[in-house]
Amino acid sequence: MDIPPEIRKILKTLQKAGYEAHIVGGCVRDLLRGVTPHDWDIATSAVPEEIQAVFDKAGYKTFYENDFGTVSLVTDSEDQALKTIEITPFRVESQYSDKRHPDQVRFAKTLADDLSRRDFTINALALGEKITDLFGGQDDLENKIIRAVGDAQERFREDGLRLMRAVRFAATLSDDSLWTIDGPTRSAIEKNAALLQHISRERIRDELVKILMSPNGAKGIELLRELGLLQFIIPELLEGFGVGQNKHHIYEIYQHNLLSLRYACENGYSLEVRLASLLHDIAKPRTKRGEGSNATFYGHETIGAKMAGQILRRLCFSKKQCDKVTKLVKYHLFYYNVDEVGASSVRRLLKNVGPENIEELLQVRKADRIGSGVPKAEPYKLRHLKYLLEKVVQDPIAPKMLAINGQDIMKLLNIQSGPKVGHILSYLLSQVLSDPKKNKKELLEKETERLGALSDQELQKLANRAKKDVEQVETKRDNMTKQKYWVT
Ligand code: ATP
Ligand code: MG
Repeated sequence: MDIPPEIRKILKTLQKAGYEAHIVGGCVRDLLRGVTPHDWDIATSAVPEEIQAVFDKAGYKTFYENDFGTVSLVTDSEDQALKTIEITPFRVESQYSDKRHPDQVRFAKTLADDLSRRDFTINALALGEKITDLFGGQDDLENKIIRAVGDAQERFREDGLRLMRAVRFAATLSDDSLWTIDGPTRSAIEKNAALLQHISRERIRDELVKILMSPNGAKGIELLRELGLLQFIIPELLEGFGVGQNKHHIYEIYQHNLLSLRYACENGYSLEVRLASLLHDIAKPRTKRGEGSNATFYGHETIGAKMAGQILRRLCFSKKQCDKVTKLVKYHLFYYNVDEVGASSVRRLLKNVGPENIEELLQVRKADRIGSGVPKAEPYKLRHLKYLLEKVVQDPIAPKMLAINGQDIMKLLNIQSGPKVGHILSYLLSQVLSDPKKNKKELLEKETERLGALSDQELQKLANRAKKDVEQVETKRDNMTKQKYWVT
């Protein structure tokens, strides 16, 4: 197996000093399924003071400052996963009277004790000189099964976060389908779902994010619902369960939300787009008026934006994330028709959503459409919108771009404002467009003096030609933007 030399050396150092040492937890699981671990955990029979003594002597820099007895070692590896390695004494956890944290951490004598406190069989494997597999973790790994170590009920009662972790591992360990949660483990989750109420929102959020960021995000959310966990995380989603829409939709609200999320996950969109895809119709159940094919949902995007904000704040997402998702939900219905919507409304959309969010808004819209079961993604309309969006943010080609302005010209030539100033500006603009290097104040001043000496007639002629040149450049730029989006 592919164990880095840094890790081998640390194991050897402990073993030579007379202690047991094993790689444990998620990294053994990942090694066995052929995935490079993103961190490495080592468990040992040494207690923290002993670990420190061994590694001080071996010349390592060590840190010891947490409640779990973990000592961190600094290596000189360049690899992020290997820069600091955590070494934890074998431990057992006793009593969880608050259902969150063990009341005290006790060190254990044996590896077996340490492995039996771990949550799932696939996470309870150890690798020292050989693999230690006390609970059938290798078979479960082979068969893609999530199974609690020991008595499932007890394990969830000890720590309710394990409810979320079970779903998280089911969702994240494969790219294509969920791993199976073993029968008794599954029913223990269903029976103890309410324990989630005792778990900190941040920890729930972290697991939820991992579920959403996997390609199986939508299946993961559905599994949370099936197991009765979703009601303690985003109960608002359940309001749309079994609720039909109208003649424009073939799916019920909840189903449509999940299908939109599925599209966002399959396409590797950002967390915010995934959240917005899941939540964009969150207010539809509350705004539904009428029944059957003519039902309406007026204002669901505005109320939905508020609800999305509440949900995400409750789950301790950052203000930045809340703001972005709220905007994406609020504007997901933006109206666009090639012939009806002009530059000014596109400009308004851009201002409302923020130019930095526009790409993601288009992604939410796409997820929404595909999630409606409408197979076509309106390619022309969408391309035309993208074209207009780019066009309206382009700086206009105007004298404002010049390193000299009307005031400067008036002062320089000692003249009042009038057509002459405009003509000079037009001419200078065409010159700068054909050679941007000319856009220097000094050069333009010189040119202004030359132009000032021309007759009004001559100057007018120059200016007319210059205006045509500028128009041509503008048309050319527009055509290039059009071509970029295949719009004619
Ligand atoms: P990841 O790939 O997300 O790091 P992981 O399995 O390594 O997954 P960690 O949270 O890093 O998960 O925990 C490391 C190990 O510690 C787990 O594999 C498991 O053995 C144990 N563990 C972590 N959290 C719990 C828990 N809440 N209850 C029981 N054991 C846990
Ligand atoms: Mg880990």
